[in-house]
Amino acid sequence: MNIILLGAPFSGKGTLARKLTEDFGLVQISTGDLFRENIKNGTDVGMLAKSFMDKGQLVPDSVTVEMLKQRIAQKDCQKGFILDGFPRTIPQAEALKKIAEIDTVIQLDVPFDEIRRRALGRRTCSKCGEIYNTSTYDKPTCKKCGSPLFQRDDDNLETVNARLEVYANQTAPLIDFYAERLFVVKGQKDADATYQIVKNFLKGKI
Ligand SMILES: [Zn+2]
Repeated sequence: MNIILLGAPFSGKGTLARKLTEDFGLVQISTGDLFRENIKNGTDVGMLAKSFMDKGQLVPDSVTVEMLKQRIAQKDCQKGFILDGFPRTIPQAEALKKIAEIDTVIQLDVPFDEIRRRALGRRTCSKCGEIYNTSTYDKPTCKKCGSPLFQRDDDNLETVNARLEVYANQTAPLIDFYAERLFVVKGQKDADATYQIVKNFLKGKI
């Protein structure tokens, strides 16, 4: 079962992907991680990507798709994979179509106002990196290690609005693109409740 997670920033894709990985034995693939690994290991496609990045240019979709193609050919992806953060545009979705069969697209539907609240309420531990939100945890220090929490520079309204605009323009059209295999779930405050809905939907399919 190959799954794409679709949703705006702060919609909870990462958390959902982690839970699905644990319960269903699917492999979570993020293109950000793929880039880092390929560059670190000095693979041909990694060096190609780096040549663009060094020039301050965007890495062409064809390079990203080649990395993906190599990754999903690996043995651990036999049961399936979860793509989190790719594709982000229609051309990327067209390219993906040529290398993989996508069974289900799960869209996490969270109102933009709620996303802004989540972004502005995010607090990060200065020592262990644990992430909290003031809506569920409003203490100044980390529950795990006791270190002070801080607000990251890019968790501000301007940055979040800019990211939401890119999402609305480039990524939201994928909802129509994948209409035939789309499962929409309202992203709730409680990530466990959201996960239960997805889990029930996937049960028996995997
Ligand atoms: Zn901590």
